[in-house]
Amino acid sequence: MGFNAGIIGLPNVGKTTIFNALSNTKAEMANYPFCTIEPNRSIVAVPDERLNKISDILKKENPIPTKIEFVDIAGLVKGASKGEGLGNKFLSHIRNVNSIIHIVRCFENSNVAHVEGRIDPIRDIELVNTELILSDIELLENAKIKLERKAKSGNKEVKKRLELVCEVIKILNNLDSGKALLDEKLKEKGFGDDDFVLLKEYGLISLKPVLYLANVGENGLSNTYSDEVKRYAESTDAQFLSISGKIEEEISELPPDEKTEFLNAMGLSESGLTRLIKSSYKLLDLITFYTTATQLQAWTIKNGSKALTAASKIHTDFSKGFIKAEVYNYKDLIEAGSEHALRESGKLKFEGKDYAVKDGDIIKFHFNV
Ligand code: GDP
Repeated sequence: MGFNAGIIGLPNVGKTTIFNALSNTKAEMANYPFCTIEPNRSIVAVPDERLNKISDILKKENPIPTKIEFVDIAGLVKGASKGEGLGNKFLSHIRNVNSIIHIVRCFENSNVAHVEGRIDPIRDIELVNTELILSDIELLENAKIKLERKAKSGNKEVKKRLELVCEVIKILNNLDSGKALLDEKLKEKGFGDDDFVLLKEYGLISLKPVLYLANVGENGLSNTYSDEVKRYAESTDAQFLSISGKIEEEISELPPDEKTEFLNAMGLSESGLTRLIKSSYKLLDLITFYTTATQLQAWTIKNGSKALTAASKIHTDFSKGFIKAEVYNYKDLIEAGSEHALRESGKLKFEGKDYAVKDGDIIKFHFNV
């Protein structure tokens, strides 16, 4: 199972431009087993400075980075929840992603029409979010009807679920024009982790983490429009980033050495796309661990995952026949300077299957099949 982020936004905000730029970046990694699943899906390497440092110390060539998938979800217009535009198809795609990159148009260009007539980022955001909330309400209303039927038997679990669904519908109906704060409100009402697990089954869009991406045009990385988006993101506990889609697309088409030159000339240490990929990864609450047995490779798991889950990422044999994990952390390796010194320092530990993997762990699994 991979992790993915869906790119959404009104038409003509720069989704395709930014998605194409992301798609171009994957070609940079000669050693990267990327693939394009469908024209609107792209798997890209997650830039990770640690991987190169580990590669230097352990003398492992051609490290394999971990990856994240981006999905370009076109088709959102006003009325999508009522079937306008691509309507339900659009909404089902969005239910299937782990997080949302909501692109907001913050660039002026008289040659590119704005579907709502003029640039107004907050109106755009709320228009999109309202459609998303309406679609969640509709989904839950349907679930409620089924649950009410089932609840007649007196089943406690069903009753509890019905209560939860009714509460979520109430909250969503009162959310102030699309501020996606459903989880906060649920917590205020005393709903806990178990309830969120139940809700996950419905694939509620309102519960997915969101990053607002201001597409700012060619004159610098912020303007008054993007400032508005930033404030909105802060007020709703969402992430924010601004980039210029057009410039990123141009940079992504350059050969690697020219790219570095271009960025240096602009006084930037990394491209907007690199920032976007890293932020998308962070948004998902993921951590990276590494294996070095055959080739140095970075892997992704959800923060808080156990060693057994990490093992199953690599091969089912690793988890089925799990014996123990030999673990040390990237930071200790850097401090020690070599694997030999690290072993001497006593920082290498043997852990069982319930060990909570930490970001930057370098793991060798022992297994028996
Ligand atoms: P989508 O409908 O959201 O996928 O939008 P597109 O990526 O197709 O972009 C719509 C139009 O806006 C295209 O003509 C792009 O070239 C243009 N565009 C996208 N990003 C920028 C930008 O940062 N600056 C300018 N000036 N134009 C842009």
